Amino acid sequence: MKLPPFFEYRAVPGQNQSQQELHIEEVTALRLAESFSTPLYVYSRAALIDNFHAYAEAAQLRGGPNAALICYAVKANSNLAILNQFARLGAGFDIVSGGELQRVLAAGGQASKTIFSGVGKSREEMRFALEQNILCFNVESISELHRLNEVAGAMGKRAAVSLRVNPDVDPKTHPYISTGLKENKFGVAFEDALQAYREAVRLPHLRVTGIDCHIGSQLLDDSPLLEALDKLISLIDTLSREGITLEHLDLGGGIGIAYGDEESGVTPVAVGSYLARVFARIGAWRAAQYGGTPIKLLFEPGRSLVGNAGALLTRVEYLKPGASKNFAIVDAAMNDLMRPAMYEAWHGIAPAVLSEVVPKHWDIVGPVCESGDWLARDRSLAVSEGDVLALLSAGAYGMTMSSNYNTRPRAAEVMVDGDAMHLIRSRETVEHLLSGEQLLPD
Ligand SMILES: *Cc1c(COP(=O)(O)O)cnc(C)c1O
Repeated sequence: MKLPPFFEYRAVPGQNQSQQELHIEEVTALRLAESFSTPLYVYSRAALIDNFHAYAEAAQLRGGPNAALICYAVKANSNLAILNQFARLGAGFDIVSGGELQRVLAAGGQASKTIFSGVGKSREEMRFALEQNILCFNVESISELHRLNEVAGAMGKRAAVSLRVNPDVDPKTHPYISTGLKENKFGVAFEDALQAYREAVRLPHLRVTGIDCHIGSQLLDDSPLLEALDKLISLIDTLSREGITLEHLDLGGGIGIAYGDEESGVTPVAVGSYLARVFARIGAWRAAQYGGTPIKLLFEPGRSLVGNAGALLTRVEYLKPGASKNFAIVDAAMNDLMRPAMYEAWHGIAPAVLSEVVPKHWDIVGPVCESGDWLARDRSLAVSEGDVLALLSAGAYGMTMSSNYNTRPRAAEVMVDGDAMHLIRSRETVEHLLSGEQLLPD
């Protein structure tokens, strides 16, 4: 199996040189598990930085300075240390709740580089975001335009808005993570977008600044994104003929990553080539039709910045070989990593130490009382009880989708930086979980 960058098997100096151990940067998975216990989310700081640079450098190379703003999609992984790392690299942020805005601010991110997406923004969330002077609201419906206009008016403000347009292109990904088709709940239908813009410019407490879309996640081919771009460009041309000029075009997130699942048979698009294609298209259009007026490009990557930078470490509790199936019961479960149960997602499994034991086929399952509680199926692995395994590519939509189902405290998170290990979220305790609950009076 191919390991993500900064994950590597090698011998530990001064130890048995025939024993290959999984390293995350300079630290072994075994040492992490022993130091912080399991289940444990671990991330490579160098991988986060490299992933961000892939976007920033491609944008700089193709568009020049300030041609683009990379707004990290906070919901992929919202740990403060990770947000802070991206803020230090100059990132903006894409948020989907008031809580995520509080996280961005707590992590030292700038509200002026933050955009607010999501179909169900409450009045309170709008007020908070307006107080903080965020860059813009990605508005998803006509009703939301009216609510935002009213809330901004009551505060004596004008809200910057971008309309999320649903370009009706098929991203060819899992239905649960496809968002740009007509039947999805997201955005304003392409045919209704012009009318929605006319309505938006009429509302006195709004300032129309942009257009955005987000067609889905884990896209393994960038052609649907370029198709969406073409549709947005044609709409911008129509708008400009009506005197509505936009400052930015936001293509959303969605670039897929390699989960190491060879069966998928497709290689993910390299960030650089995707951005090159976008900038080439924009450049040609700008020169030909938009009078050379610069329009800023925004991207909202989540998974492609953090997914392959993280892994979930877990320890094998019991082996339960059977007539038709062999189960390895581990201490991580669907509450820690939802993706397999929710999307039948495939995560690579790498043992902390490569063993000489004869491999067998195992289903890797957790302790939760649900048959849906599995993490991997039918994997050829050499495992023994007590072994530590790494579920790879778990940096995105891992910790953020975790829950306390079965009263399981959530995992700790550690950032590896060279040979240093930094605890960035301590393990939850059952006391944390019980603290908000009350008994009834007599
Ligand atoms: C989830 C989301 C993203 C990030 O998507 P990835 O596939 O993780 O890159 C970006 N924009 C919006 C509006 C989202 O909901």
